[in-house]
Amino acid sequence: NLSTKLDRAFKTLKGQGSITEINVASTVKEIRRALVDADVNYKVAKEVTDKIKDEAMGRDVLISVSPGQLMTKIVYDELTELMGGEKQDIVIKGEPAVVLLSGLQGSGKTTFAGKLANYLKKQNRSVLLVACDVYRPAAIDQLKVLGEQVGVEVYSEPENKNPVQISQNAIEYARKNSKRVVIIDTAGRLAVDEQMMSEIEAVKRAINPSETLFVVDSMTGQDAVNTAKTFNDRLNFDGVVLTKLDGDSRGGAALSIRAVVEKPIKFISTGEKMEALDMFYPDRMAQRILGMGDVISLVERAQQQFDEEEAKRINQKIRKNQFNFDDFLSQLEQIKKMGNLKDLVGMIPGMGKAMKDIEIDDDAFKPIEAIIKSMTPKERAQPELLNGSRRRRLAKGSGTDIQQVNNLMKQFEDMRKVMRTMNKMSQTKGGMQQMA
Ligand code: GDP
Ligand code: MG
Repeated sequence: NLSTKLDRAFKTLKGQGSITEINVASTVKEIRRALVDADVNYKVAKEVTDKIKDEAMGRDVLISVSPGQLMTKIVYDELTELMGGEKQDIVIKGEPAVVLLSGLQGSGKTTFAGKLANYLKKQNRSVLLVACDVYRPAAIDQLKVLGEQVGVEVYSEPENKNPVQISQNAIEYARKNSKRVVIIDTAGRLAVDEQMMSEIEAVKRAINPSETLFVVDSMTGQDAVNTAKTFNDRLNFDGVVLTKLDGDSRGGAALSIRAVVEKPIKFISTGEKMEALDMFYPDRMAQRILGMGDVISLVERAQQQFDEEEAKRINQKIRKNQFNFDDFLSQLEQIKKMGNLKDLVGMIPGMGKAMKDIEIDDDAFKPIEAIIKSMTPKERAQPELLNGSRRRRLAKGSGTDIQQVNNLMKQFEDMRKVMRTMNKMSQTKGGMQQMA
């Protein structure tokens, strides 16, 4: 499934210091495969991942997050933006406002008509539902049942087989009966066909709706995109309703449709209850597509594992009195990873207020890091080498002064002293325990 695939993808990045061309390429490939598995159209998935790759390559990963975490964030942001960023409302305009529903048979138009009526009625609007599915006699009854359920009147002409006339008559009826919103439910076919298309096109031309919505079953995966494209070419609809998201649909259709027809998704439908209608939030859908909860915990687990290994390694070095500046630097990174220093301090009860006006930021470590980074690998491994002239060179190279370098050396020596003492103590204790 998707999260194991991403798990694999992020494994490549686990514990690596930076995002490089090589680890990005393999990660991006995995992400693309995962997206396609979540029903995202291949072409769209390719476009998305190409963008992600560009974005990732430009980032410097040294600061506080692992490449895996950064990558997750990049993917999430990219998906959110591709699906429109912000949620978009339905446009209710006109006297009356007219909402026309289109889509294949079984996509959920009639069910959605009832839900939308319910939603608008709750906003204190007077709504009229119109049955324009003239092919299936049961369709009128289905809408009537839903209308009754939500307390909204249903307009129908059982003898009339002309959807253009019915919808025009319904709008006339709405005007006379002071209904402010008219929702027109239409007939769909099992597959795209010419008669259905020209019929709904004629209805649209005749009534000029303020909102034409295309209703599509999210479970239909890749087909959903083609259907959306065909309907959009003929109707130039205003928005999409994605239904049946309560099933195992991964929601990839949302991304593909948005990318291919460039129309916003306005609602999602998540069940047969009249209340199961939601606005479409791009960020939430991005989470769903990514299985974000899973991914984030996976990345965190990977990170934790890495941290534990690192801690074990450093412990060993301390025990062997080999702790050096490389280890010191790595410890600094660990501390920084815990987050913003000010936030950390703010979490200590009582400290938040007291520290409010005091500047502490992540820059606090900068001079120390700069000094350590000015050392040669040999100097980092063997701090004893750092005599007066080398220290002066470090001060110059790091943009600090000799005082700061000396301070750091002193702190470091103190640390090593404490470590040595602790080692001795634990050895003595261990020895004594052994004797006993
Ligand atoms: P229409 O042919 O486009 O009017 O589709 P319908 O509204 O009649 O829906 C077709 C079937 O899908 C019906 O059995 C509905 O109960 C069901 N359905 C519609 N929307 C949803 C949804 O969001 N979730 C689920 N699980 N079923 C739905
Ligand atoms: Mg129907």
